[in-house]
Amino acid sequence: MKNLLGLVILGCILTSSVALAEPSLLVVFPQTNYQTSAQKIFFLGTAPPDGQVSINNKPITRSKAGHFSPSLPLQLGENLFTVRHRNQELQIRVTRIATVAELPQGLAFAKDSLTPATDIARLPGELICFSAIAPPNASVSVQLANQTVTLLPQPEQAQLPNNLAALTGQNQPHGQSSVGNYKGCITLQQPDTNSFSLIYGNNIISGAVVPDSSQEVDLGQPQFQLTLNGKTITQPGNGKVKILSRAELPVAEVTVDAGVARTGPNTDYSRLTPLPKGTRAAVTGKEGEWLRLDYGAWINSQETRTLPGAVPPQTIIRSVGYRQLPGVTEMAFPLQVPVPVSVQQSDRALTLTLYNTTAQTDIIRLDDNPLISRLDWQQETPERVKYTFNLKKAQQWGYKLRYDGTTLVLALRHPPKIGNTRRKLLANFKIVLDPGHGGKESGASGPTGYLEKDVNLAVSKLLRDELVKRGATVVMTREDDKEVSLAERQAIISQEEPAIALSIHHNSLPDDGDAEKTKGFGAFWYQPQAHSLAIFLQNYVVKNLGKPSYGVFWDNLALTRPAAAPSVLLELGFMSNPDEFEQVVDPEEQKKMAKAIAQGITEWFRSVN
Ligand SMILES: [Zn+2]
Repeated sequence: MKNLLGLVILGCILTSSVALAEPSLLVVFPQTNYQTSAQKIFFLGTAPPDGQVSINNKPITRSKAGHFSPSLPLQLGENLFTVRHRNQELQIRVTRIATVAELPQGLAFAKDSLTPATDIARLPGELICFSAIAPPNASVSVQLANQTVTLLPQPEQAQLPNNLAALTGQNQPHGQSSVGNYKGCITLQQPDTNSFSLIYGNNIISGAVVPDSSQEVDLGQPQFQLTLNGKTITQPGNGKVKILSRAELPVAEVTVDAGVARTGPNTDYSRLTPLPKGTRAAVTGKEGEWLRLDYGAWINSQETRTLPGAVPPQTIIRSVGYRQLPGVTEMAFPLQVPVPVSVQQSDRALTLTLYNTTAQTDIIRLDDNPLISRLDWQQETPERVKYTFNLKKAQQWGYKLRYDGTTLVLALRHPPKIGNTRRKLLANFKIVLDPGHGGKESGASGPTGYLEKDVNLAVSKLLRDELVKRGATVVMTREDDKEVSLAERQAIISQEEPAIALSIHHNSLPDDGDAEKTKGFGAFWYQPQAHSLAIFLQNYVVKNLGKPSYGVFWDNLALTRPAAAPSVLLELGFMSNPDEFEQVVDPEEQKKMAKAIAQGITEWFRSVN
């Protein structure tokens, strides 16, 4: 999983030539001068099994082969660690950085604490909030468009750990002092009378004149003011505030194959259904380079172009068409303009939602179909139509969305037929195998410095051979130690349209993970169509190989996101666990693993058919 090339070999140069041949003390993680915000960190390395390894004079436990991965606490700031084995010594410096902005001393705002932190544009009537971190007992306010907004000290708010915390089971919120956290909001109304009113807290202030309501209004940069002990400073905010005009909302068109729609204005926010190329929508908000589209999702403006003079896209829909192709049913939705869409899979159903769409539908033809038992549709809101494809079987085999001009095409893939000979049960199956990482993208490292990319490839080749033995056609995303981008791997799955896609990895942990204890087999999925395969393989391998179970995770990963085929990512074991690493690199264990996964896939196919 993680990329760790912090190989530091110090001791050996100092000792005699005989010593050079002998394996020496090795720490692969952390590298010296490593920076982290974690409160503890694990050290991963190895040394000859005889003798003792100590860190800061404390002996540490090691595996039979001499590998180690103890976790050590970190103080804020610089931490110095001395790792010793016999006459070899390593010095490693790790700096722990604070996660909360430091409270400023004296008359100043905390660095980078003023928000909005970038240019924003909002609709009239929307809440706009400002915040700043400043010394306690100060008075803080914002000047905007010759109005003053008071920012008040805020009550304590919990801090959520980042998503990776789910991998170490430490994802509980932790308290965060909000001392010095000031916040205040305003709402801008823009009635026809060309005046607007400010509402913040419970007060309404009105009267200031907006030049022309049909135009976007630039309110300029908010000026943050801080008063403490009778002294005042003013600091401009980091972005401008604009009020969009409802009468002249910009219209954006998606220019990439799959525009990444998100729940908010940066990549921390979750992904929604990607928008096919050509999708158009009105822009109802901006934040930095992110655009909020009229149906609520955000997209990066770099994936769009603006259509000057266009009015907000709306369409009616009449009939829905379909055509049956070998292995696929294509549903065609003729529209006047490509509108935003979303897809949701559930058991025995797939729903497609069209936004900014109003139905004028009287007829839909859909004969008996190998996949679809019945199509239901509903005008959910005046501008949203939902289509529910009720399916004959629980397992779904992939879908694709595209716009052909203004017609949305949803291609639903049919189930592959299981082979009719006991030996070649996978005869009709194409499987994409993706050995994780490759080339200079090495993935995780084991305590000896052995790299994840190499064991991923070794086991994937063994798995390929096992699958081919069972009749499958296997397409590998790489067959040697080369770099293949995540986009290229996704494209292979989309082009090959396999029955399933499997990405093979070996795991490691975030800095504060407990590497000594954490081990086991893990399965990762994202699209509901991949869930049953993930669960099945997890149970099958854990049961049949007696492996510890690390767990099954819904995870937003490049190789679990493909919708074109059920795509699962497997973490076969931990590079960062000294004992499990021994099994990871053992060729016999690798063979057993490959066989178990291949048999698991075969049993799963039988179970879903
Ligand atoms: Zn990996």
